[in-house]
Amino acid sequence: PLVLGIETSCDETGVGIVRGETLLVDAIASSVDEHARFGGVVPEVASRAHLEAMVPTIERACATAGVSLRDLDAVAVTSGPGLAGALMVGVASAKALALSLGVPLYGVNHLASHVAVDIVEHGPLPEPTLALLVSGGHSSLLLVPDVTHDVRSLGSTIDDAAGEAFDKVARVLGLPFPGGPHIDRAARDGQVVIDFPRGLTQGRDMERHRFDFSFSGLKTAVSRWVQAREAAGEPVPVADVAASFQEAVTDVLTRKAVLACRENGVENLQIGGGVAANSRLRAMAQERCDAAGIELRVPRPGLCTDNGAMVAALGAQMVLKGRPASDLSLPADSSMPVTLVQS
Ligand code: ATP
Ligand code: MG
Ligand code: FE
Repeated sequence: PLVLGIETSCDETGVGIVRGETLLVDAIASSVDEHARFGGVVPEVASRAHLEAMVPTIERACATAGVSLRDLDAVAVTSGPGLAGALMVGVASAKALALSLGVPLYGVNHLASHVAVDIVEHGPLPEPTLALLVSGGHSSLLLVPDVTHDVRSLGSTIDDAAGEAFDKVARVLGLPFPGGPHIDRAARDGQVVIDFPRGLTQGRDMERHRFDFSFSGLKTAVSRWVQAREAAGEPVPVADVAASFQEAVTDVLTRKAVLACRENGVENLQIGGGVAANSRLRAMAQERCDAAGIELRVPRPGLCTDNGAMVAALGAQMVLKGRPASDLSLPADSSMPVTLVQS
């Protein structure tokens, strides 16, 4: 099936087109530059930018893929979670498109899409798959028997998401928003010389929060360390702090992901979401999976951050697996739970 996917949950207007399990195009317009000076995404600004970018991005996607809208077999859209106003622009656009073309509409979960995108990169997902979802708003370990309708949460962050921690620490270090890519780059020139805390990895925490994460204590520890340096009138070794912070995050994420695979008898791990673009996370996950005999799948960095291809990829799976289409009255669900794949 030829499926067009629309993503507008945050500040990226993404339109992807997939034929079956093959990616034809991934077109993106981003309003990230308009938010940078505010140090975070401004919802109203994001919604207006989606409205302006939507039709041009759809046209660009079709032109690049060499397909006509009339050829589409289905339309898929992110129905949640995300910014309510931003989601509404995508959902309303997808409804109009599906209605005018007379094709089924699939309202899908943004987080399941972060997992499903790997299908257009590396082929069908093993069932079950263990997924580590690490993004700007979420950090979860998921057991995924079927990405089109059965996603189970083994644990998730009890405070900040991994991407949020990257963004907050970047701010402390005076790096621009969004901070993840800047920390990644800065860390390449640094050494892991500071032993920052690994949240929820010791003693009783490993009983009560075995597959949960906590990153707010780490963020506070980095902040205190930097403040102490500044108070002493000493320069802050930005590259070393970035490398040490990044090491602490990736150590916890990969350790718990491998443990979750082992304890659930799953021999494959998929990593998705914006933080999966991180070079140290990718390298450490590969080392630890190799050592544990686990097959690792991580999409190319451009498919880890938000995009339309991921929505088209999940939509195409819905069609291939014969899932029923969504109703045209489907809502934009800003707090859609990770376990609900479809609206
Ligand atoms: P969610 O998917 O939870 O709704 P989101 O869609 O806003 O959140 P994504 O686009 O999936 O988030 O990911 C964005 C996050 O990924 C940001 O926090 C960003 O800093 C982080 N990120 C992007 N690239 C990297 C990188 N190379 N290293 C670390 N973090 C990164
Ligand atoms: Mg973004
Ligand atoms: Fe995302």
